[in-house]
Formats: sequence, C-alpha cells, structure tokens
Amino acid sequence: MRRGLHWGLKGRLTALYTCFMVLVTCAALAILLSLSSREVLASVQAGLTARVQDSAAADISFENGALRLDSDFYTVEGDIYLSLYDENLYLLYGKIPYGFDESPPLSDGEVRRLSESGREWYVYDLSLPLETGETVYLRGITSVTDAEADLRVTVRFTLILLPGLVVLTAVIGYRTVRRALLPVKKITETVQEIRTDADLSRRVGEAGSGRRQDEITNLAHTFDGMLDELEGVFAREKQFVSDVSHELRTPVSVILAQCDAVKAQTDVPPAVEDAVLGIEKKARGMSELLSQLLFLSRTDQGRLQLHPERIDLTPLVETAVQEEELLLTQAGRGVTIACRAEAEVFAEVDETLFLRLLLNLLSNAAAYSKENGHIDVTVKAENGEAVVCVRDDGIGIAQDALPHIFERFYRADTARAGEGHAGLGLSMAKWIVEAHGGWIQAESVLGEGSAFTFGLPQHHTKHKK
Ligand code: ADP
Repeated sequence: MRRGLHWGLKGRLTALYTCFMVLVTCAALAILLSLSSREVLASVQAGLTARVQDSAAADISFENGALRLDSDFYTVEGDIYLSLYDENLYLLYGKIPYGFDESPPLSDGEVRRLSESGREWYVYDLSLPLETGETVYLRGITSVTDAEADLRVTVRFTLILLPGLVVLTAVIGYRTVRRALLPVKKITETVQEIRTDADLSRRVGEAGSGRRQDEITNLAHTFDGMLDELEGVFAREKQFVSDVSHELRTPVSVILAQCDAVKAQTDVPPAVEDAVLGIEKKARGMSELLSQLLFLSRTDQGRLQLHPERIDLTPLVETAVQEEELLLTQAGRGVTIACRAEAEVFAEVDETLFLRLLLNLLSNAAAYSKENGHIDVTVKAENGEAVVCVRDDGIGIAQDALPHIFERFYRADTARAGEGHAGLGLSMAKWIVEAHGGWIQAESVLGEGSAFTFGLPQHHTKHKK
C-alpha cells in the first residue's frame, strides 16, 4: 500500500506534467508550422513575380520588328518556368513544366493558384506591349506542391521526434518528482521504523533533500522537530515514573518495617493485628508494583545492563519451584507443583533476571490457578535452545485477550489476582527473554489452563543492551 500510494502520486504528477508538455509542444508546433507554411508560400509567390519581372526587363527585347530572347530566358531558375504567349494564348517561346498541360486563360499582373494533373501551381502573367501595338504575355509557372513538399518533410521530422520528446519529458518529469518526494518516502520509512522498533530516536534527516529547501523538505524538518519534542516528552515521563517509584520505596519500606514491629509485640489486640496484617498485605503489593515500575523504567531508559554467564538452568528452576511450592502450601488452596527437568541444560543468562522471569510465570500460574489445581514445569534442551515451560490447569485466558497479555498494565481478568498483579509481570518477562535473544509464547484455553513457554539460546553471543 505504501509503494502503491507513493508510486501513484509520482505517476500522477509525471502524467500531468507530460500531458501538459505535449499539449504545449503540439500547440507551439501547430502555430509555427502554419506560420512557416504561409511564409514559404508567400516567398514562392514573391520569387515568381520577381523572376518574371526581371526576365521581362532583361531577357526580352524588340528589335527591328522582331522579338529577341536572351538565352537566360530558357534557363529554369529556382524551379520557375518561363513562357511567352501572344494574345490568343498561342505559345511563342519558352518551357512548360511537365504535368502543366492545359493553358489557363491569361490574367495580367496576378499570381493565381491553379490545380493541374493533381498538382498545385502558381501562375503569374505579365503583359508586354510591343511597339507594333500588339501585346505578348510573359508567363511564369512554378509548382506549389514541390514547395509544400519541403514543409511536409519538416512536419514528418517533427512527428517522428515527438514520441522521443514525450518519453524524454516523462523521464525527466518522473526523476524530478521522485527527487522532490524523497523526503516524503523517508518520512514514511521513519514512521514505520519507529513503529516496528519502538525507537523514537529515528529521524528523517537530510536524506534525499541535499541542500534543497522547499515545502517538502520543510515538512521533513518539521516532522523531525515534532519527533524531538515527542522524544523529550517520553523521556521526561519515563524519568517521572522512575523518580516517583524511587521516592515511594522508602515510605513503603518504613510501613513494612512498622508492621513487623507491631506484629512482634505480644499484647496487640486482635483487631489491631488484623488491621496491621491488612496494611502489610497492601504495602507488599505496593512494594512489588514499585519494583516492577523501576525495572521497566530502567529498561526504557536503557539503564538495565545484562550480566550473562553460562550456567546450568536445571538447579535454578528446581530451587524456584521449591520456593513456589512453599508459598502454595502456605496459601492452603491445595495447588500442587511438579518439575520435570533434563539434567544440565546450560545457557548463557543473567541469573537474577532469569529468576525474575521464572518467578513471574510461576506466581501467575499460582495466582490464576483453581482450587486443588496443578502446575507443571519442564526444562529441556532443544535445537540449541534451553526451553522452559510453565503449564497450569487454572482459569485460562480468553482467545481475544491472548494477543494483549504481554502489553503493559493489561489484565485479562481484573477480578482475579491479588496484590502485586498490576499487569506488568508478562511485559517484564518478555523484555527479559528478548534481551537474551530468546522468544516467549502463550497458549491457553479459557477454563482449562495456560502454558507459557520460552526459549533461550544456549550459545548466545549478542545480548540486547
Ligand atoms: P499480572 O501482574 O496482572 O499478573 P501479567 O502481565 O503477569 O500481569 O499478566 C497479564 C494478564 O495475563 C493477567 O492479568 C492475567 O489476566 C493473564 N494471565 C497471565 N498468566 C496467566 C495464567 N497463568 N493463567 C491465566 N491468566 C493469566
């Protein structure tokens, strides 16, 4: 669609420009040819009358009662034939061009255009009175068809050149339009890069515009300016989230410490103890949310560094499963957990982040489980990857919610889940997996359970910063 639109605009502008150029050229040629045709015919007529008058003065004389003709009279100069007639249209001397058969009546001092044998002629007659009282007529004949033939060659030549001119105009027009629209193409590409890579630092820049300054390059600069501002706004927003989370950590820690202090006392009335437990539960949820927010704001700001080491994932997973088992026993809902891990599944991972990823998936499986449900964790090496799967037979996720669960603050089932479930866990998990160059996917059937599987390269060299 992008190419189509772009080509469409270029194509339309080129076609418009070419049509306009062809129209202007045709109109100019038509005017030029009609003017030059008139000019050519006028000059043929002028040549004819001049030749006849010159010949009358120089080539014909009347001496001793007889006509004397100079030899030049018989010479065909400039395609003009001269002939001498008496008053009865009887040819006395001279030459008649081939094809000019019939002798038209005499008409003194006037250039006439006549058709003879399918050809056009100019005929000019000039009367020459003789001393004897008789009159002879000097006639000049020239072919209009021959004169127009030259013009026709010019027209034909122009018609042959015209398609070449159209092609040249189209090519030049297309290249000009493409160059002019280059910043628009760059803007589209930049927007697409920003969308796919979620990287607001991309800019249109000077690409394609050179030192040119026009409305379209101005648009590109304005677009870059808007991106600068947007990037600034987002950076400030990320900093704000980071600062607020940081500031709130201390009071939450104080609340938790105070709860511990109250709980440690022996003479606390039951009502107060219940209230303190409630406060503690909320404060722990808040503490978890703050640490998730801090984590994500650090990833956004590029401040989270990975420290990958080659480690065996199996014992790590087993330890995490045991911890979760303890929590499940404390919760007392009858949920059980089992781990089936291959021995020695090595991968190059950041241990802290790997544990965080695993605990997020385990705590979700526990939080969204049913009474007496079961959680199954598997670890195996497959096609050069360490593949971990956390499967539960809990409440499951609706199919329309499934594509969104890795988005921040997205919660498929807002009624379930307790403190510390604000919809950030899976987006953290996704970031951690991708930072290791791996993948994560979710499968689920509503009411039957879910399976979260991730794979991490076992021999990975390049990690996302
Ligand atoms: P939360 O902190 O709310 O658990 P997550 O990002 O971890 O947020 O998960 C997003 C949403 O995906 C959850 O709100 C929940 O609706 C759904 N979800 C995640 N894991 C499971 C699971 N194992 N079973 C059912 N639903 C789940």
